[in-house]
Amino acid sequence: NNRPTFTGLVVVLAYADSQPDQPQGFKKKKIVVLGTGWAGTTFLRNLDSKLYDVQVISPRNYFAFTPLLPSVTCGTVEPRSVVEPIRRILEKKGGDFKFWEAECFKIDPANKKIHCRSNMGTNLDGNGEFLVDYDYLVVAVGARSNTFNTPGVTENCHFLKEVEDAQKIRRSVMDCFEKASLPYLNEEERKKNLHFVVVGGGPTGVEFAAELHDFVTEDLSKLYPSIQHLVKISLIEAADHILTMFDKRITNFAEDKFGRDGIDVKTGYKVVKVSKDAITMQNPATGDIAVPYGMAVWSTGIGTRPFVVDFMKQIGQANRRVLATDEWLRVRECDDVYAVGDCATINQRRVMEDISEIFRVADKDKSGTLTVKEIQDILEDIYVRYPQVKLYMKSKQLNGIADLIRTGKGDTEKESVELSIEEFKKALSLVDSQVKNLPATAQVAAQQGQYLATCFNKMQAAEENPEGPIRIRGEGRHRFNPFRYRHLGQFAPLGGEQTAAQLPGDWVSIGHSSQWLWYSVYATTNKLAHEGTGDI
Ligand code: FAD
Ligand code: MG
Ligand code: MG
Ligand code: MG
Ligand code: MG
Repeated sequence: NNRPTFTGLVVVLAYADSQPDQPQGFKKKKIVVLGTGWAGTTFLRNLDSKLYDVQVISPRNYFAFTPLLPSVTCGTVEPRSVVEPIRRILEKKGGDFKFWEAECFKIDPANKKIHCRSNMGTNLDGNGEFLVDYDYLVVAVGARSNTFNTPGVTENCHFLKEVEDAQKIRRSVMDCFEKASLPYLNEEERKKNLHFVVVGGGPTGVEFAAELHDFVTEDLSKLYPSIQHLVKISLIEAADHILTMFDKRITNFAEDKFGRDGIDVKTGYKVVKVSKDAITMQNPATGDIAVPYGMAVWSTGIGTRPFVVDFMKQIGQANRRVLATDEWLRVRECDDVYAVGDCATINQRRVMEDISEIFRVADKDKSGTLTVKEIQDILEDIYVRYPQVKLYMKSKQLNGIADLIRTGKGDTEKESVELSIEEFKKALSLVDSQVKNLPATAQVAAQQGQYLATCFNKMQAAEENPEGPIRIRGEGRHRFNPFRYRHLGQFAPLGGEQTAAQLPGDWVSIGHSSQWLWYSVYATTNKLAHEGTGDI
């Protein structure tokens, strides 16, 4: 890490910067970006650097390519090849960017200030803390590993979220092998040291287990031939299957492959306690079992960072688990604050909340009923504003509007039918069941960062903030479409150069050949022309 470069004093000086190439009296708006992960970095890469005065704050001064972290744990990939220094990214862009290596510990939306603390010692005042004010705040701080308050996890398990975590895991695996080789241990103790436990059967846990298996059988078996037969890898998952977010075929394939590889997949077991020497897990049939282990990696999911929880309390989101934004990625009930990536979730508007308004706008001739044509005319707008409608029609195999109307009207064949508001409600009554939360992935985070940058790039021209919905809630020429996610596929590397791929259009592939697709998804994410952005 670099030496401290900014103190409170420099912050003040930075604000006094003049802007020679702008007309007198013009002051660029200040955007503060928290976080240099997938969402924050993609936002910065796509932001027009001439338009704003940008300050970036993050406790790490680099971007990390997380999909490769599991490979760092076993030395397949070097740590330095998965990171990109943020200053290099900003320098390439030119413009008004500043970076401070520090963490935000409090957001003060009432005064539009954030409180930060440098993690590299103190300034003259003695506490390393400073205040930054913003016109717009982009919260892109990601999530923390979630222990679900299971006792002993923080003290005894590794997490796999950061590059440092991956490096620690690597050292720990080697330590376990060295310990198990010592002359004074008995067989039991050697076995204990060579028992590697992965808690959590999601993509990260599964990939790490696969990576570790390859590492042990291909590399370490040669270095530690006399103890190699004592190695055991266990994967513990509370649900009935691993990789539940994937297609059943992939889940089955992964479970079978792990079975053949000798990885002990324990589904239906919940870890309830971790001590220095043993992991205790629970299953209705067996009760508590404590198993000795050498090293454990905890990968059961993510949670909200404490300072974000505090922020949520301030803005009336105390009863939620994750910070909520609208579909324009604006934090609900909080002006000029945006949130992208794993730290937030989009609160998709329900059709049923707006149904009277939709009906009113659609009923152009004010007849009190809707014709097929009237619904047809507004359908594209409805799809943009309420993507669940499109999903619903697809899932029910409805071939367009006439079919949809039939669901409201009963079994009529005529296309000339008209719908009353009650019938319109009936036709759409089930669409909100299709609302889904987006997954916490790099793909989502990057697309959101890119979308938001595009909105900011056009915001001055649009004068107003991105506001919607288009034509349904009001007029206005410079409106933005809400964020729309484009799913490019999901991948699960399973070891032995086998990767399972699940791509849009129900295409499932398992084998060597899908590896290139995996890379191409990430290579194209940044170049995606976002469909959901633009003036209407
Ligand atoms: P992050 O990328 O986590 O970035 C958060 C940033 O905020 C970091 O720079 C952090 O230092 C900073 N920060 C934290 N606290 C503060 C604070 N208080 N103040 C200021 N800054 C702060 N997704 C996929 O799509 N495909 C994959 O193959 C894949 N593999 C993964 C493998 C692993 C091992 C892991 C851990 C994740 C993987 N993911 C994958 C998920 C993906 O990495 C996340 O969804 C993505 O990183 C979310 O982006 P983000 O910007 O919201 O958060
Ligand atoms: Mg980020
Ligand atoms: Mg990241
Ligand atoms: Mg999210
Ligand atoms: Mg009408």
